[in-house]
Amino acid sequence: MAHRTIAFLGSDILMDSPDGEPWLSPPRLEAVEEEAQRSFTWSGEAFEALSFPKEAGAALEAAGLIRMPIRQALSRWPEATLRPALKGLGLLNWMSTAKFCGACGTALADPAAADLEGGARSCPDCGRPTFPRISPAVIVLVTRGDQILLARNAKLPAGGRFGLLAGFVEAGETLEETAVREVREEAGIEIGDLSYVASQPWPFPDSLMLAFTARWLSGEARPDGEEIAELRWCGRDGLPEIPPKGSIARTLIDRFALA
Ligand SMILES: [Zn+2]
Repeated sequence: MAHRTIAFLGSDILMDSPDGEPWLSPPRLEAVEEEAQRSFTWSGEAFEALSFPKEAGAALEAAGLIRMPIRQALSRWPEATLRPALKGLGLLNWMSTAKFCGACGTALADPAAADLEGGARSCPDCGRPTFPRISPAVIVLVTRGDQILLARNAKLPAGGRFGLLAGFVEAGETLEETAVREVREEAGIEIGDLSYVASQPWPFPDSLMLAFTARWLSGEARPDGEEIAELRWCGRDGLPEIPPKGSIARTLIDRFALA
């Protein structure tokens, strides 16, 4: 079956040209050995995702390929390009950490491309299938009147980009409980009126982002000083630098900003 090829080198994507789509001409890649390969389908179309080791960078550049940081590339693509690229990256990320059966420790094998139902790898010894790991995380747009709460992650410098509060779902929690807990922990405020908006696979390395809106109920927003360095209530006209298009955080903020 004809397929499209997409390739990654570390946290960069490899492209034929900086402005085009990420699908590569396979002959350009033939001279360089990949580290991992995965066939998959998205929306009825066939794709092949490849990852190359860092040492292959010079050879790939010599073959005329351009490297671009993945997040920078994602913001340029339409949904029909973005989604299969994210799926391929997620599968490669998973393959790099799911190499052995969790029950008996035998090295896992990839099924034939025609038999990739659910994306699992199976154990040649005990037969147990291992499915791609997905880590659900909740992201919340908190509103107070006509303002929203934006947060600067402690990993980003002062004056850097702001985003939304988010956190991983813990065992035994509902999504709503995760949202309330994360906002309480990171910002010291209470929220209510939670409303589900949308979801997005986010393979950095294996998240599924579940987006909610919520209303501020009480408390003064104060950053926890660990994960969050700065919090700011912002109106539509006073937004700082925000996440790039292609991320669900941006989708949530745009819904507010353009409403
Ligand atoms: Zn096994």
